[in-house]
Amino acid sequence: MAGYRPKKRLGQNFLIADNIIQKIIDLIEPSDSMPVIEIGAGRGALTLPLARSGARIIAVEIDNDLIGYLERLLGEYSNVSILNQDFLDLDPGSCGMEPFILAGNLPYHISSPVLDWVVKYRSFIHKACLMMQKEVADRLASRPGSRNWSPLAVFSQLYFDVELCFTVKRDSFRPPPKVTSAVVRLITRRAIDVGDPKRFERLVRTAFTQRRKLLVNNLAGGLIPDATTVRSALRDMKLEENIRAEQVSIEQFIELTRRLIPFMSDQTP
Ligand code: SAM
Repeated sequence: MAGYRPKKRLGQNFLIADNIIQKIIDLIEPSDSMPVIEIGAGRGALTLPLARSGARIIAVEIDNDLIGYLERLLGEYSNVSILNQDFLDLDPGSCGMEPFILAGNLPYHISSPVLDWVVKYRSFIHKACLMMQKEVADRLASRPGSRNWSPLAVFSQLYFDVELCFTVKRDSFRPPPKVTSAVVRLITRRAIDVGDPKRFERLVRTAFTQRRKLLVNNLAGGLIPDATTVRSALRDMKLEENIRAEQVSIEQFIELTRRLIPFMSDQTP
């Protein structure tokens, strides 16, 4: 695309490394039995090999200036539809393609809302293969006990098996992004029953409000009126009183929520 200037505000870092493109396609495993929705088709680095696989593809691209180019590139593939819109406004129920594989080299400024979208529409998704900043990928795929364990990981791993598959160097893109990237695969799995999802979410978010503080100090005073109640629940669960949120597993958060629900204030946070 001679003369086209990539737009920073749309996170336009286009993939140019053939080996990385192939690794991502191998992870997506496109086949005619499972449609693929691609986030941010750009100049078609992933869309073209996806089109060649014969799978049904919906390629979403927000930038009007790229649409003509994509239409010419993909014109011969009747299995591809190009949607010129904001991916975040896409209602997968209206595409008539469930279940589907979600794929994309994400515009990095929308990686958080895309992950919220993935959780919201999880029942439509078979798996997701997404490139994002390595820092976000590290958080998403982290495990309890790591300093990256976070609400993002807890809420994603409730519904998906999350794996950081490989990292991608800056020079695999043009223009190169400021940071290293990583490709993450999320495979839908049977959701864990959290009991009361709203209170579970409040407890987890409150538990992580100040990472350096003990769990008991984050929870007590706001969500739970007094520290003694929290300490006693931790003791009953055979957890240390000086535990921090980053050491608590999803199952332990669920159990802690169950024990603390009778004491939770309904006003905060
Ligand atoms: N898939 C191409 C590649 O790998 O070379 C492009 C990836 S580039 C990192 C991200 C693409 O997402 C850009 O083409 C950008 O215009 C597009 N984009 C940015 N925000 C978007 C949004 N909200 N919805 C859909 N596409 C978006």
